[in-house]
Amino acid sequence: MHRKSPLGTGPLPCPECGQITMIQVKKDCTLLDGVIVPNLEHWQCSSCKAVFFDVPAMDDIEEYRMKIGIKKDTLLKLKSTCK
Ligand SMILES: [Zn+2]
Repeated sequence: MHRKSPLGTGPLPCPECGQITMIQVKKDCTLLDGVIVPNLEHWQCSSCKAVFFDVPAMDDIEEYRMKIGIKKDTLLKLKSTCK
């Protein structure tokens, strides 16, 4: 399984607003179902505040959910309320 981000490493256009303002952040992330993933690395647009998870972030979320015993199918509902 690869861990390389599909988003690459350069400046990233935001899929929501198109601004090159995507930054990688690492902080606690509250998911819609109330699960808090601590110190999750993910991407956020500093312009419109949209939050995105790349493959490594999804892996981290899945790993954390398994650790705390949440069923994998809840991943289908993944959206974030990260601020
Ligand atoms: Zn944006």
